[in-house]
Amino acid sequence: MKKYLFINGKRIEATEYRLLHSPYSGEVIADIPVATAEETELAIQAAEKAKEVLRKMPAYKRAEILENLACLLEEKHEEAANIITLESAKPIKLARDEVSRTVQTYKFAAEEAKRIQGETIPLDAAPGGEDRIAYTVHEPIGIIGAITPFNFPMNLVAHKVGPAIATGNTIVLKPANQTPLSALFIAELFSEAGLPAGVLNVVIGNGSLIGDQIVRDPRINMITFTGSPEIGIAISNKVGLKRLTLELGSNAALIVDKNIDIDKIIERCIMGSFSNQGQVCISLQRIYVHNEIYHDFVNKFTEAVEKLVFGNPFDEKVDLSALISPDDVERAVSWINEARDEGALIVTGGKTTGNILHPTTILGANRNLKVSCREVFAPIVLINEINSVEEGINLINDSRYGLQAGIYTENISTALEAAEELDVGGVIINDVPTFRVDNMPYGGVKDSGVGREGIKYAVSEMTETKLVIWNKN
Ligand code: NAP
Repeated sequence: MKKYLFINGKRIEATEYRLLHSPYSGEVIADIPVATAEETELAIQAAEKAKEVLRKMPAYKRAEILENLACLLEEKHEEAANIITLESAKPIKLARDEVSRTVQTYKFAAEEAKRIQGETIPLDAAPGGEDRIAYTVHEPIGIIGAITPFNFPMNLVAHKVGPAIATGNTIVLKPANQTPLSALFIAELFSEAGLPAGVLNVVIGNGSLIGDQIVRDPRINMITFTGSPEIGIAISNKVGLKRLTLELGSNAALIVDKNIDIDKIIERCIMGSFSNQGQVCISLQRIYVHNEIYHDFVNKFTEAVEKLVFGNPFDEKVDLSALISPDDVERAVSWINEARDEGALIVTGGKTTGNILHPTTILGANRNLKVSCREVFAPIVLINEINSVEEGINLINDSRYGLQAGIYTENISTALEAAEELDVGGVIINDVPTFRVDNMPYGGVKDSGVGREGIKYAVSEMTETKLVIWNKN
């Protein structure tokens, strides 16, 4: 029950502790460290010391460690899923999916470790460049400061730790305060997998203190942050010349064109809207349906919502459970109330049971409401009627965010137009915006962030290009 910081390959007892509670039942699930500045400093020193070890380690060896980790995690699949469910209230069936994806992510990282290569440069293309040989190599950037959110506590750690090890960087990882157990579990598995001490260090504590310390420390060469736009933007104002990747939030949307077979897409729309209680950065928050099929869509969608099962996240049948904190329940309910007061129609949900917000569907919400223009990060979805796909595209683009967007259409020209016009990091044609597998380039535009994850793309962000020129004379 008592947990430790993980620094220089060892469990370190912290000077301060606090109790960690289950978001679903409120019961105490662990006694977790609250790292001080001094303890965070130890983690940075350990990462600094291990830099040379990893830098000199051949690619096949780094790949081997990542493969070992993937195998060990596969063996402990159920234990890992239980940890995710315990600390985050993610329904167990979804926690199992997250573990399977995490295994995949580390396997992709193992593969990418062997493919880091530069190119030869034809210097003689420029006058004065004759008789020279030039090539680039991609070197590790140094120490990566990785800061992760609560909603995918294992796989989003993997999206930072996997490529960092693949590229020969060391890491100081600060997981979200509510979900440190998954990160500690992985750090210990890495020791078993053969990762040298000091390469991966985990500090747990207050984001605004130790997170800020990591962001500002001059020895840390890159910050890779996944979390809310507010904190991401604040970080970008502090990092100075450090490399920076920001994977932030969104209010992801979908267009449903006329002539779509609604029965075929309802299940995907339900998954997109309510998976992990809507606490997914590409959760489907706004659905724009062509007026020819709007009423049919709404009827079939709400019918399917009523069948969702909510309750204890360890129950195999449960689709939805508690939000991450009572504050989030309160915030989501106040946003629903604002929508109701402004004339929107709450056709499902809107009520709570403990920390569970019932899956909520809202019709006719205007663009200025919080449920529309902010990120709800809760099981709330809006359905609005549109007269054309063009109108839908304009509504999707009318947002400070731009992570992913989806469109269901039978018309190729319409799909091509949407792909061109939607101002987002990824356009998903004939599926919900919530689609993600772990090797695709993933990231947003506008307030949804900068840089891309999806191992190969993170690898390029985590390396420095060095040019070598040989003069033959
Ligand atoms: P959050 O509140 O922004 O926290 C993210 C991380 O930042 C946590 O580890 C947090 O620590 C830390 N932090 C807090 N204040 C900090 C500071 N001043 N300096 C440095 N770090 C600080 O986000 P969350 O509630 O955990 O996660 C939800 C958000 O993440 C949503 O907006 C969601 O869209 C976004 N997200 C984006 C993606 C993507 O790939 N685009 C994926 C998943 C989630 P504490 O826990 O100690 O506060």
